[in-house]
Order: sequence, then structure tokens, then C-alpha cells
Amino acid sequence: MKVRFWGTRGSIATPGPGTTRFGGNTSCVEITTNSGALLIFDCGTGAHPLAAKLMAENQGAINANILLGHTHWDHIQGFPFFSPAFVKDNSAAIYGPEGSHGTLQKVLAGQMEFTYFPVELAQLPAAISYHDLTEGIHTIDGVRIAAQFLDHPAMTLGYRVEADGVVVVYLVDHEPFSDELWRAGTPPGHIESILHDGDRRHAHFMANADLVIHDAQYTPQEYPSKKTWGHSSYDYVVQIASAAGVRKVALTHHDPGHNDDFVAEIEAKARALADQISTGLEVFCAYEGCEMTLVPNATARPFVAPDPSQESVSERRFHVLVVDDYPATLTLVTQALEQENYTVSSATSGSQALAMIEALMPDLVVLDYKMRGMDGLAVTKALRARPETQNLPVLMLTGMTDEPSTRAGFDAGVTDYVTKPFSIPQFTARVRACLART
Ligand SMILES: [Zn+2]
Ligand SMILES: [Zn+2]
Repeated sequence: MKVRFWGTRGSIATPGPGTTRFGGNTSCVEITTNSGALLIFDCGTGAHPLAAKLMAENQGAINANILLGHTHWDHIQGFPFFSPAFVKDNSAAIYGPEGSHGTLQKVLAGQMEFTYFPVELAQLPAAISYHDLTEGIHTIDGVRIAAQFLDHPAMTLGYRVEADGVVVVYLVDHEPFSDELWRAGTPPGHIESILHDGDRRHAHFMANADLVIHDAQYTPQEYPSKKTWGHSSYDYVVQIASAAGVRKVALTHHDPGHNDDFVAEIEAKARALADQISTGLEVFCAYEGCEMTLVPNATARPFVAPDPSQESVSERRFHVLVVDDYPATLTLVTQALEQENYTVSSATSGSQALAMIEALMPDLVVLDYKMRGMDGLAVTKALRARPETQNLPVLMLTGMTDEPSTRAGFDAGVTDYVTKPFSIPQFTARVRACLART
């Protein structure tokens, strides 16, 4: 399997003398398998030079599989310049997460409307197909590819490619689910010791990979002021990848404000941290033109999806019960969910919530932690004690970001634990991920 980086920048293309080493094009990675499958991860401006190479090298038809993590601009902007799509005998199968804001085709057509671009999507001569993906295991051009949601203010999928006896995992545009990575009283550095279920799921998804390509846009110092923007820093990546037994990590989605010297400094610090943890993890900052050939190894194992039956949820209308004794949050959350077409009911106390759940079972409960009377933990425990609500998804929404509270939430049985401040898109993406898993 061959991997080549064509775009390593996040947010906006950043050409110029300060980015010649690590590159200025936005996200795009090419993977070719030994059987000849062409997989393109994200279609940022790096897709333009990739397209030129494909056109120069290929005499016959080009059959590209384009896997988009999500459709933010820096991940699709290169698509209108993907020249193979302008040739009749070529084909492009485009994959992306099933989102809440229209189909993949509609979103891609939007950026090619006549106001923005001279050629509309429907006018492209190549055979283009669109595939809205759910979480789970897929076969794309004969390659086994697992998909799992990331934590980003949009529905965003990470991809795990298993082919040729190697595993490569693409995890771009993701931020830690929790400020604290490790659960108190457990030895740090092991997947089982990860505090938040979301981070543990993330670690399992990359387990034993030969190469993980991971978002590391910010430094640990920058991260607190960029929280909820959906990006990681190298310390999270190095720790979680080490715990997951990953061989090599490529840090990517470099911040447009970071020049080559700055990125090189991040690389040095990330390597020092990896050495300190000493699981043998190799770390580097991805750069444009970086090419590697991965050879099979005996430890490559297929990923087992934790929720094997993934169905499309885009057509379903879900009922969400929001429980909060603080009117402002209740209104904010209710409005956000109604805008996403959920049927929403609300309760202002734990006991009222339990009575409502007994009368009409919702698909998901969004639950405040600290409430007068029965608090969120007590409600969760009561739900878990009854067979009919044992598996009812509970998303706890709270200002309690500390380790003991997070631990208490998961110990009580919450499905997800979302802390304030949160952004509405991030919150609704987490709601959708919870529902997709039920
Ligand atoms: Zn991005
Ligand atoms: Zn994004």
C-alpha cells in the first residue's frame, strides 16, 4: 500500500515562503492499494496537484474513490478542480457522512453553483456516484474500510483502511471528547484507562494501526481558547496513539497561522513526548509530497465495530426528551434540536422526566447533571435499573468538566457526556452519533 500526502493544511490554503516545507494546500491524502484501488481522503486544494498527477500518469480510465471526512470547505474545495471528473470515461465514487443538512450530492453541488463556479456539478462528464455513509464497516472498491464518527462541529467520519496486510487510519478534524484523558486510579497509557467513552472508542478505532493520520492543528497552549472548534493538539494524539499501540503517527491539518519553523517545533515536542512515553511510537508532521510504502506486518487486525448494525437514520424522525431545570439551556437545546427536525419534549425535573419516559418512550434523553431534587446521575441510574430503559441513550449535558464528575457520569451509565461550553453544531453532531448507534 502506498500513501501520499497532497494537502496537510487546515482551514484555508496557506501558500507562501513560510510554508514550503510542510505545504500550504488543504487536506488531501492519496492511498493506492496493491490491487490498484485508488482512495482519496478529503478533497481540499491538495486534490488539484493530485489530479494533475493522475491525468499525467494514467493512459486508461481513472476510477477514483473520494472519501470525505466531512464537507467543511477545506475538505471539498479542491473538488471542482479535480480534472479527472472532466473526462467522460473516468469515474468518481464520492463517500461522506450522512449529514443532517442534505445529501452529499446537494452539498457538493452547492459549492459549484453558477455564482461560485462556471461548471455545475451535474455537467461533469465523468460518471459520478454519491454514497452517504453511516458508521460501521464498508467495502469500497474491494477494500475493507471502517468508518466512525469524530468529535467535530459537523457530522465527521474517521476512516480505517485495512488492506494489503496493513492498517491506515485517517482521523482529521477531531477534538478530544474530554479535557482529562485518563481515569483517576487507573494506570495511564492503556486504552482501558481512558476516562471518556468517546476517547476510548477513538483509541480502539486506531488500535494497532501501522499509520494514523491525525488532526493536530493547535498547540496545547492554543487549545483552551479554541475549544469546541473541533481540532486536537499533539499531546492528545501522541498519548492516545501510544495507548492504542499505533506504530506511526502523521500529525496534520496544520494551522494556517503556523509557519514551517513553528510546525517543526511542534514535531520536535511531539517526538520528545513520544520518547518519554516510550511505546516506540514514531511521530512526524505530515508534509506535502511525503510518500510512504507500507509493508505487511503480523499484528494487523481487522477492526470489530462496537455497534455492528448501522442503519441510515436520515429518514427517521426521532423523539428527544430534554431535561434541565435551567430555562435558558432548556430553550437553547430545544430550539437547536427542533431546527434539526427532531420532535422535542421537555421536563424541568428528574422525577417529571422519569414519569414522561414511562408514558412515552423517547429515542434519546438529553439530561442536565446538576438539578434540584433528583439530579442527572440519579435519573440515569434509575433508567439503567429498569429493563425497558436499560439501553435508552442518555446524553449528559453539563458544565462539570472535571474528572470525578465525568467518571461518575459514565459509571452511572450515560451514553455520552458533553460539557459546556459547547457549540450547537457540535452538540447536534453528538446527538446524531448517539442516535445512529442505537
Ligand atoms: Zn478541516
Ligand atoms: Zn471541519
